[in-house]
Amino acid sequence: MADTYDLVILGSGPGGYVAAIRASQLGLKVAIVERERLGGICLNWGCIPTKALLRTSEIYHYMQNAESYGLKADNVGFDLAKIVDRSRKVAGQLNAGVKGLMKKNKVTVVEGVGTVTGAGKTGGKLSVKQGDKTVELEAKNIIVATGARARDLPFAKADGKRIWTYRHAMVPTEMPTKLLVIGSGAIGVEFASFYNDMGADVTIVEMLPRILPVEDEEVSAFMDKALTKQGIKLLTQTGLEGLAPSANGVTAKIKAKDGKVSEETFSHAIIAIGIVPNTENIGLEALGVETDRGHIKTDGYGRTNVDGIWAIGDVTGAPWLAHKASHEGIIAVEKIAGGSPHQMDKANIPGCTYSRPQVASVGMTEAKAKEAGYELKVGKFPFIGNGKAIALGEAEGFVKTVFDAKTGELLGAHMVGAEVTELIQGYVVARQLETTEAELMETVFAHPTLSEMMHESVLAAYGRAIHY
Ligand SMILES: Cc1cc2nc3c(=O)[nH]c(=O)nc-3n(C[C@H](O)[C@H](O)[C@H](O)COP(=O)(O)OP(=O)(O)OC[C@H]3O[C@@H](n4cnc5c(N)ncnc54)[C@H](O)[C@@H]3O)c2cc1C
Repeated sequence: MADTYDLVILGSGPGGYVAAIRASQLGLKVAIVERERLGGICLNWGCIPTKALLRTSEIYHYMQNAESYGLKADNVGFDLAKIVDRSRKVAGQLNAGVKGLMKKNKVTVVEGVGTVTGAGKTGGKLSVKQGDKTVELEAKNIIVATGARARDLPFAKADGKRIWTYRHAMVPTEMPTKLLVIGSGAIGVEFASFYNDMGADVTIVEMLPRILPVEDEEVSAFMDKALTKQGIKLLTQTGLEGLAPSANGVTAKIKAKDGKVSEETFSHAIIAIGIVPNTENIGLEALGVETDRGHIKTDGYGRTNVDGIWAIGDVTGAPWLAHKASHEGIIAVEKIAGGSPHQMDKANIPGCTYSRPQVASVGMTEAKAKEAGYELKVGKFPFIGNGKAIALGEAEGFVKTVFDAKTGELLGAHMVGAEVTELIQGYVVARQLETTEAELMETVFAHPTLSEMMHESVLAAYGRAIHY
């Protein structure tokens, strides 16, 4: 006899486990199937362990610059094994936390590799392989939250020795001396920043004309300068045509802007060219679940074209972010439970890069807003005009706001500099509440804080900035 549930969730990343908790809160009998570790990529191999590593490199950077704060820190060094161990412990702590949350919320955790074998009016069915054993589950609704994995280069597979994916890059057993990072999205830039701050000689290759290509052009340009100043070599409009590992390194065949092809040898390379959704071999084809370039197609509530099958998170497409996955999970579950949730608004999902300096944004870039035909008011305020930034020794960066000149709607906000990944939420709330420039201007910001720059940027858009 199969165990029967109101809802079974396949995959326990930030999409799946958050959906499970919300389902339990709403009184649904819920099970979650996981083949690896509770918490998915985010907790175990993504968001959290990378931030633990980046915290180390940030502190290391400050220690090396201790003198500028009037401090003495002689013989500054590090123990790589201990750095990795700390990051793994942080991931482990959160994995244990999710285990606890599943228990507290009476969510049944089924370990194993799941396949969806039935759906629709006759009811959903899943088979879960646990070694030699197979467990059968039945559910009125199934949410697919199987996430994604690193995309390989067509001509080179990660071997974990010289060529790394993010998984290898997160648990290095040796420090790269000369590192090639392939791809300049958030993941590539974060690893480049970490390894550069830890002393590696880092090069980033990017096919597109600028790094962090989804960000506002001014942010990309600022990051280009900042990272170059830190010693990172940035090769944009540059293609990688080959990657050959050897015992001592990895030789890259690089095609430059001008078409010239050259070879350079690195100690290690990290492939950070995007992800592939985990949609194969989980029963979707047989059930006729529609996909688009591998990603499951859903409506604003997470419904697929097959009755009773839902999908959330990375498996449904961009932006590939943990908070997007969790939010989609909550919407889907509330809909399943008969509620009236709002539909997912992808225009209001913040994106953050936790490099040094940090990058954060929400909404339209200036170029996209222009393309959409808006008449704009654009404000920009530099960190150098902010007392707290100067006191922190972090006077590098800016806050940019883009308004619809006709209505005062905040169309987008783009920030680069210290702690902007914490600041961005102020603008996300403002956008969610459909706040206009007038209300933002009337808001009192605490002094001295970095957030005052958010106020100043709005004032600047209307020619009223005080401190610059
Ligand atoms: C290095 C790195 C850094 C990142 N940093 C950030 C960040 O700072 N902020 C941010 O928002 N996002 C970040 N991300 C992205 C974030 O990790 C993902 O967007 C997020 O994890 C997606 O959540 P998800 O629930 O869709 O899937 P996942 O977290 O991928 O979870 C899917 C789960 O499903 C399981 N699974 C798959 N198939 C099966 C099956 N057949 N049976 C059973 N279980 C299965 C997998 O084992 C996995 O545990 C980062 C990613 C990486 C790689």
